[in-house]
Amino acid sequence: MIKVSACQSVTRFDLARTLAGRGRYWTTAYYVDGLMVDTGCAFSAGELARELAGKPLERVVNTHTHEDHIGANGLLKRQNPALEILAHPLALPVLANPRGQYLHPYRRLMWGWPEPSRARLLEDEGWIETRNHRFQVFYTPGHSPDHLCLFEPQQGWLFTGDLFVGGRERALREGYDIWQIIASLKRVAALPARVMFPGSARVRENPKEEFESKIAHLEEFGAKVLDLHQKGWDVPAIVQALCGKPMLIELVTLGNFSRKHLVLSYLGAARGGMSAAHHL
Ligand SMILES: [Zn+2]
Repeated sequence: MIKVSACQSVTRFDLARTLAGRGRYWTTAYYVDGLMVDTGCAFSAGELARELAGKPLERVVNTHTHEDHIGANGLLKRQNPALEILAHPLALPVLANPRGQYLHPYRRLMWGWPEPSRARLLEDEGWIETRNHRFQVFYTPGHSPDHLCLFEPQQGWLFTGDLFVGGRERALREGYDIWQIIASLKRVAALPARVMFPGSARVRENPKEEFESKIAHLEEFGAKVLDLHQKGWDVPAIVQALCGKPMLIELVTLGNFSRKHLVLSYLGAARGGMSAAHHL
């Protein structure tokens, strides 16, 4: 399923797999001036390609390699062999061979396997030039190791991928690095952004305050986790004290997205070998 809307001269595509007539677990891609920022999941690739037909398309930038952001890369490239795909250096092997990564069953169901695609690397603080705009690249790991954001200083546009999704986390997927997420949020919060275009959730104007409140919340939460940990509390006890009631998403994802993984990430356990094998 696809929904198309506009914000200034940026076209927004909300994309999802259609199940029983409804879109499920939406993610967002953007088109501006011949550039696509992300391409949605594999199930919506055909719909996105049809919407883009007739528009000039020169480049795709993937903010990261999660399957719901790279799903139409292969199709768009086949339809337009001159298309240039650009991403973080760590993203390149994943894009070339998405099936080389572990994809939890719920992720295969919701977003599917992406087609392989070949990309060229973007350097940190490097620039991408389109006809009317210049976008600067900022590496922002944490949500995934290969995450980046794009900033267009003239317009104040900031494309944040999945670095920022609204709300206050009570749970996290296995393999995320919460301390890196906080550092990356601080990096983009320092930019003079006027409009934020996230990889899901609504577009926000003047996002600085929201970034700062999110950073403060994550740091305060982390301080509580570390305090209880130092007092000898185990992970289930910390979860119960700080993370509230069990969540439906924990059942749907068979515990892959859970309150426990949020706490473990603060404790540094998410950096071990086990989670690295599960990392996209
Ligand atoms: Zn993601």
